[in-house]
Amino acid sequence: MKQGKVYLVGAGPGDVELLTLKAVRAIGEADVVLLDDLVNREVLRLARPQAKVVEVGKRGGCRSTPQAFIEKLMVRLARTGKTVARVKGGDPFVFGRGGEEMVALRAGGIEVEIVSGVTAGMGVTAAMDIPVTHREICNGVSFITGHTRDGHQPDWRALAAGGTTLVIYMGVANLDAIVGGLLEGGLPAATPAAAIQNGTLPSQKSVVATLSGLSVAMANAGIGSPAVIVIGEVVRFAQSGQMALAAVA
Ligand code: SAH
Repeated sequence: MKQGKVYLVGAGPGDVELLTLKAVRAIGEADVVLLDDLVNREVLRLARPQAKVVEVGKRGGCRSTPQAFIEKLMVRLARTGKTVARVKGGDPFVFGRGGEEMVALRAGGIEVEIVSGVTAGMGVTAAMDIPVTHREICNGVSFITGHTRDGHQPDWRALAAGGTTLVIYMGVANLDAIVGGLLEGGLPAATPAAAIQNGTLPSQKSVVATLSGLSVAMANAGIGSPAVIVIGEVVRFAQSGQMALAAVA
């Protein structure tokens, strides 16, 4: 029997118009679509009517499908000739376990193709008009996770000193430790900061504050996970950013 293949597809942060043409094609070719829970269910309209859909959510703290099970399932499906689209939020290689899955599939002799997507750190910040590498304001952008498997903290001191815009994924639960680490590391308390939940979706909510005021501002605005947190002078460009910052100044 001819072997199938697996596409590791990035579906972008939410708005289906941010899918690439390649993602649309891969989902349309699939016999089986494996959906992560941050993926907008509207993408299922791109699948063939006879495609099998399997939900394999992995949200922190909730019941989820173990990673090893998902990897074995993909290997088994591809070995029986199926084309699989493993659809993930954002980009599969940015905090998406795409690397682990690619390695497991290749070890199983399965053909894999990576379909890059718009990562939340780009798509969600752009939806708020934040130009993450604006010239003369910063010298780059850092994508950081606020939640590591072993509880190990990123080097906030180095990040505070690095002069890049900081975009933090999965940071809501550890917000106080993140802000504390950056303040201790020397980032001024008045540094502009924003949090955006459900970015690019109709349910998008956001708030602009200062670094030291972010936690209270998020609580007042009712902003929780999934959200990206953006820290740096570029936040001044955000929709209503100037106004919000003037109000707290
Ligand atoms: N692979 C994904 C990231 C997965 S980690 C990507 O490239 O975007 C999950 C985290 O991504 C969430 O905790 C949140 O920080 C961020 N995220 C994903 N979609 C988001 C959205 N629509 N709005 C805000 N944050 C989002």
